Amino acid sequence: MSALFPALAAGTERRDRPALRFGADALTYAELAAAAGAVAARIGDADRVAVWATPTASTAVAVVGALLAGVPAVPLNPRTGERELAHILGDSAPALVLAGPDEQLPAGLAGVERVDVDVRGRGPEVAEPADAERAALVVYTSGTTGPPKGVVLSRRAIAASLDALADAWEWTEADVLVHALPLFHVHGLILGVLGPLRRGGSVRHLGGFSTAGVARELGAGGGTLLFGVPTMYHRIADALDDEPELVRALSGARLLVSGSAALPVHDHERIAAATGRQVVERYGMTETLMLCSVRPEAGPRPGSVGLPLGGVDLRLVDDDGSVLGAYDGETVGEIQVRGPNLFTEYLNRPDATAAAYDGDWFRTGDMAVRDADGAVRIVGRRATDLIKSGGYKIGAGEIENALLDHPGVREAAVTGEPDPDLGERIVAWIVPADAEKPPSAEELAAHVASQLAPHKRPRVVRHLEALPRNDMGKVLKKALGRA
Ligand code: ATP
Ligand code: MG
Repeated sequence: MSALFPALAAGTERRDRPALRFGADALTYAELAAAAGAVAARIGDADRVAVWATPTASTAVAVVGALLAGVPAVPLNPRTGERELAHILGDSAPALVLAGPDEQLPAGLAGVERVDVDVRGRGPEVAEPADAERAALVVYTSGTTGPPKGVVLSRRAIAASLDALADAWEWTEADVLVHALPLFHVHGLILGVLGPLRRGGSVRHLGGFSTAGVARELGAGGGTLLFGVPTMYHRIADALDDEPELVRALSGARLLVSGSAALPVHDHERIAAATGRQVVERYGMTETLMLCSVRPEAGPRPGSVGLPLGGVDLRLVDDDGSVLGAYDGETVGEIQVRGPNLFTEYLNRPDATAAAYDGDWFRTGDMAVRDADGAVRIVGRRATDLIKSGGYKIGAGEIENALLDHPGVREAAVTGEPDPDLGERIVAWIVPADAEKPPSAEELAAHVASQLAPHKRPRVVRHLEALPRNDMGKVLKKALGRA
């Protein structure tokens, strides 16, 4: 494998071009190479380092510095609770923690030596280590279904996945990514920071998400790409009527991408109607990096994550372990994958690593169907989104989409709970659009039955002020009394 960041190498023509901008901190490739070189020199040959992953330039410099040094970096969620932080520190045992000089670190990190990251630092330039198989990052999963697992990723996996995305999206050095995601997961860190740097393009981080920030940086502001999670696109869809600059910016963007959770069809359609642009959905996991994406040229595909990316082998396997044959758009199976984009192992968990494989196929735990052209539609997670009711296996996602299509529903999540007659009954948790006038349970059941099928109607409707979500906006179904 060649270097992960060709544009960082001394003497390349891209060295004086912008690499990243976080608020007032803007660095060219040459400046990034110098600042990351200083980090690499400081951390030397530590076994592993943690990075206090605020959405700042120091996080990007710290991670690139560790990659250059060949020292595995563990990005930490700065908003993580005490208990989860203790779990991650105990599991990953970092020798040092890298943080911006102004960051306050919590008491839980008191025992770990701190290194301040200077984004204006100037260290010796360092060449990337040769061994692409060595651990590069340990990224913890989102913890949606259980305690976060440390996923060991090599530079080989990172390069393979970023290059497959570049092929699918025609992602080049001319692209300027507008970024508003946190930097401690794959989406924000690997796709959002390492992706532009690998391409030789640039990234502008908004600090936090706002529709005004997106409107400012995309389109006329020079941004060409937007990567977001569904909760961001939901807020964008809600703002379109009142923010003409936002409509203009989205209409002028080269590519709008959504991932990390399913993008509701309703939001996809509202954005397409107002801007003429299709949000392109992609699917991946910490363990596998990116697996599928809708191809921008393929036309509207709401509800689909598109075709497997280049290099990704993908199959669906039913409950009996049989590999599903012809694509029929109906038969549900677990997504299993192989490819150069896969992780090395779960840190300290050889049993979990072994259990995650069926032979040499990695079991994603996600259930899907495939259309006639091979495009993948995710039904949901095996553990939380498949409801066995009245002899049917029903995916939560399509019911959630149908509920969101009702004008009285603002947010929706569907779960199953034990039922003496049905095995499980379908429960809809909704945030009404108007808390004073929530739609009745009968009305919602009739709405779902008319869109999907009578056996897919919710038997119970419960109201909430907001759905429980994690930092990526993923709904925590455990907190809704499931799994
Ligand atoms: P944990 O493994 O700790 O329970 P997690 O699975 O949410 O948390 P991640 O690795 O960050 O942690 O997320 C990967 C999961 O996100 C996938 O397995 C899938 O369920 C979901 N996902 C990602 N992209 C999409 C998408 N476009 N549509 C539907 N689901 C998606
Ligand atoms: Mg997972």
